[in-house]
Amino acid sequence: MLIEAQQCGHGASGRNGGWFMGTLEGLSAFTDSKGELHPAARAQLNTLVSRAGQVLTKEGIECDFHHGGCVMAAARHTSQIARARETLAHFQGLGFSEDDYRWLTPEALTARMQVANPGGAVFTPHVARVQPAKLVMGLARVVKALGVRVFEHTRATSIGPERIDCDRGSVGANQIVVATEGYSEVGNPLHRRIIPVQTGMVVTEPLTDKQWSDIGFHDNETFADFTRAATYLQRTADQRLVIGARGNYLPGGRPQHALADTASIAQHRQRIALDLFPQLRGVRFTHNWGGSVGVPRSWHPHVIYDPFSKMGTAGGYIGEGVGASFLFGETLATLLIGESSELSEMPWVQQRPLAELHRWEPEPVPQLGLKATMLAFGAEEWLLNRYGESLPARAMGWLCDQLGPH
Ligand SMILES: Cc1cc2nc3c(=O)[nH]c(=O)nc-3n(C[C@H](O)[C@H](O)[C@H](O)COP(=O)(O)OP(=O)(O)OC[C@H]3O[C@@H](n4cnc5c(N)ncnc54)[C@H](O)[C@@H]3O)c2cc1C
Repeated sequence: MLIEAQQCGHGASGRNGGWFMGTLEGLSAFTDSKGELHPAARAQLNTLVSRAGQVLTKEGIECDFHHGGCVMAAARHTSQIARARETLAHFQGLGFSEDDYRWLTPEALTARMQVANPGGAVFTPHVARVQPAKLVMGLARVVKALGVRVFEHTRATSIGPERIDCDRGSVGANQIVVATEGYSEVGNPLHRRIIPVQTGMVVTEPLTDKQWSDIGFHDNETFADFTRAATYLQRTADQRLVIGARGNYLPGGRPQHALADTASIAQHRQRIALDLFPQLRGVRFTHNWGGSVGVPRSWHPHVIYDPFSKMGTAGGYIGEGVGASFLFGETLATLLIGESSELSEMPWVQQRPLAELHRWEPEPVPQLGLKATMLAFGAEEWLLNRYGESLPARAMGWLCDQLGPH
């Protein structure tokens, strides 16, 4: 099998927020007639993080993996409480238990995170923190030791059954997996079937013990608040606070190749951090970066293998792909060797041609849709910050509900 990359870790895997999650975006798409996720699918997701932890230990991949769970909180505005409750009800409706997703009262939240306005939270143990670049480099080392050849700095210009043409030559292969996700450009069978949306991070200087005791993260839990443009925070092994938030859309639906974000986007993320933890005022933000996540028209991820063309793909993770790509990688492996296993029976697996993945509408339709949604989200946030839970903020909240992510 060939693994192609312009540079090891150039994609989202080398530059993400390091949440290794035991869940997938768009789980509602995989439910049965009762609206529940099949117990075997729930079991796959619930065991994903510990399974990955065992693999990392076995393979000696040191990537700051810490299985501390995740706190998703109503942390700034009262209207976030309803969204937190809805999220808990959503997971319970899918059949997950109290052990998987449970409510934290404002007091229980404060014991973990000293946020500005604690309104309660959802806690799940099914998330770990990782350092993404170390994870990618560790994986590359392990697969190379298994005999896989990794070609860096090599652009695939055309990808088809049994053949990939690259700027430095061509490669023949019996089976081909297209794993280009938010970086699927012209010449790629996933181009316009998976479109790139940008997200990114800022990181503080290393914080002191006193600063950590003032803000929380005592078990290195990952943390998010229920803002509309998803936030994701983690405490790194070198004691920095990393704050990520979505999103942006580049004209023409181009992916973000540059690592750094613009100053104004970075400042927006810094403001979110300080709104959540005013205790950090005066702290230095030392770095910022961003990248592209892959968004499919269906708004849920997939593993696809076509036994006729022998081409496969995994992706459409919409920003929740660190754990998902581990699970989908395991799944593709069983499909490629023709093994029938529980993994290949999962509801996110499809055996059909890649070309059947829905195409996005032509530009600028997705761009206008996303920009309008982000503007509405920003306006609601501004109204909430300025006027609290006022009538205009509620009206804008209603509009945001209608726009949704779809
Ligand atoms: C800033 C940021 C923060 C994120 N935070 C999280 C998080 O905390 N938790 C989470 O679960 N998910 C997160 N994500 C999403 C997650 O990182 C991705 O879903 C996941 O890494 C996708 O992995 P992948 O291997 O499928 O694709 P990628 O890691 O994107 O890899 C695709 C690769 O394909 C290569 N490629 C594309 N086209 C070509 C070509 N023509 N020739 C050669 N090579 C090509 C690219 O160079 C790239 O290396 C985040 C993403 C970003 C950008």
